[in-house]
Amino acid sequence: MEKEPRTLQEAIVYFSNPVNCRNYVVARTWPNGVTCPRCGSDKVSFSEKHNRWQCSTRHPLRQFTAKTGTIFEDSPLGLDKWLTAMWQVVNCKNGVSSWEIHRAIGVTQKTAWFMDHRIRLALGMAPSGKLFGEVEVDETFIGGKARNMHLAERQRRITGRGTVDKTAVMGILERGGEVRTIVVDNRKKKTLQAEVKKHVQAGAALYTDELKSYSGLAQDYAHAVINHAVSYVEGRVHTNGMENFWSLLKRGIGGTYVSVEPFHLFRYLDEQAFRYNNRKMTDSERFDIAVRGIVGKRVTYDKLTGNEEWKARQN
Ligand SMILES: [Zn+2]
Repeated sequence: MEKEPRTLQEAIVYFSNPVNCRNYVVARTWPNGVTCPRCGSDKVSFSEKHNRWQCSTRHPLRQFTAKTGTIFEDSPLGLDKWLTAMWQVVNCKNGVSSWEIHRAIGVTQKTAWFMDHRIRLALGMAPSGKLFGEVEVDETFIGGKARNMHLAERQRRITGRGTVDKTAVMGILERGGEVRTIVVDNRKKKTLQAEVKKHVQAGAALYTDELKSYSGLAQDYAHAVINHAVSYVEGRVHTNGMENFWSLLKRGIGGTYVSVEPFHLFRYLDEQAFRYNNRKMTDSERFDIAVRGIVGKRVTYDKLTGNEEWKARQN
């Protein structure tokens, strides 16, 4: 077996071989050996000719492939295309557009868009425990570049939603650690403080700006406020880590993605957070982690283009 890839160029060569694709995925989704996705049995036999396994237990759907039960399951595209696209999404610092994927792997732009979104879903990994230590909290608004839109699009967005076309996003960063982002309906006290309590361990040092919605948090946290009208840094009291994250995010959205529908925004946020949280890894380590996230997250095109999930996230 060839050595696993370390660069995009190596990834393209490596994943052009279907056996390499299969071995790479199997080693991560079945680290303890291949088992039947339906009944869990390890009594399975592999057919090289058909590139699939068969479970020896009698039940419907006994045959399965390396794609079964992953985000790739119902896609007619091969793992060679999926894994190459995934490498790009995971390792490009400012994000990759569906046009770039379309050019790199030779699928239509619409297909590339779908792949891109499906991969992002895989990257939205569940948060692990509460943040602690020194934690910065900040909010920003995304969207609303109306001058770059067609007139019809502009009217649809502005009149259709009945509000200014900007989406509020809250960010919570543990210094030296993980960042989390949450799309919020508003910046009211109740909304923001509920998120702080959900994501930050009581007793942590909390740094925010002077927004009134944060007042009262001193009961549970060592809360220090930086008044941006006066200065941006006072010793350890600042939100520069979050500011840096927002600027990376906005550079990604502004420069790479043509436009981000509000109900798709959380996917872009997840993707940016994934790259940020795994920033100290090599490209191959980051990709490895991403591939481990492909199991058990299927999404259909209708579900993806509709706003069901967006609504679900809001509740
Ligand atoms: Zn089985």
